[in-house]
Amino acid sequence: HLILPEDAADKAKSQYKDVVVGGDVWMVLEEVMSYMRNPLKYHNQKVKLPRGILISGPPGTGKTLLARAIARESGLPFVFASGAEFVESSTGNGSDKIFDIFFTARANAPSFVFIDEIDALAGKNVNDDAERRATFQQLLAELDGEPDDTDVNRWSLRQAVILICATNRPDELDESFMRPGRIDREIHIGLPGEEERISIFGVHSSGKRLAKDIDFSKLVYRTLGYSGADIRNLINEAGIMAVRNGHDEITQQDLIDVLDKQLFEGMGVSMTDD
Ligand code: ATP
Repeated sequence: HLILPEDAADKAKSQYKDVVVGGDVWMVLEEVMSYMRNPLKYHNQKVKLPRGILISGPPGTGKTLLARAIARESGLPFVFASGAEFVESSTGNGSDKIFDIFFTARANAPSFVFIDEIDALAGKNVNDDAERRATFQQLLAELDGEPDDTDVNRWSLRQAVILICATNRPDELDESFMRPGRIDREIHIGLPGEEERISIFGVHSSGKRLAKDIDFSKLVYRTLGYSGADIRNLINEAGIMAVRNGHDEITQQDLIDVLDKQLFEGMGVSMTDD
């Protein structure tokens, strides 16, 4: 699961410029990165340092994309995991896995742990069975991190591990997980607004052959409620539509045709030719 900075450029292709999110997101990240660049300086100031950041938001809004971009752009080691892995494994070693993930991260600190679909691990149902409870308790223990080293500098450096986690269902997380000192910062990525949708069109159409008549700003009303993933899909479908329509480049009409098709399909009307 470990991605070292030298591999990050290959393994985590996303860059900040590809992620279209509100300015408040970048402010939180700037604060976190300032701490990660010099954890000992903050520790010596006796300030409380963030332990966990929750990225929440509807499906397809770029939560995983943002985490990958942080991995690449921070230049710090990242350990990636998904809550789903813990649910799938019936071997009863969830708490060992959590231990290993944080052990690896601490050995490479300052570093990040990213856990996608954290609700599978820290949901309100954590007490349903002994295995889930043990895994969850280990996660809390890692976040609480009692001093275990008499060398305070070495200890505080090893604590410079920030958990970044993502979920579509923040309301379903266990309250004890959401406590300050565990999850200290929340980044909410909502569905993109008008300006953001235009920027997302720009990001995902770069490198594509576009006709001169393309004007994404004319599509903002028709894409109300679309996520970043929906817009990426729309452009891809428009590329397919362009080929079907015999165009060398994607035209505004190709995009409109796809939007019409999606609208009718949403209403349960089939638009296939045959
Ligand atoms: P899920 O909750 O379903 O896992 P997610 O929020 O993690 O979704 P991503 O997997 O990051 O969403 O998004 C899927 C893809 O959609 C991204 O790889 C990217 O290509 C595009 N995308 C989504 N949101 C954005 C955005 N805000 N800016 C640019 N591209 C985006």
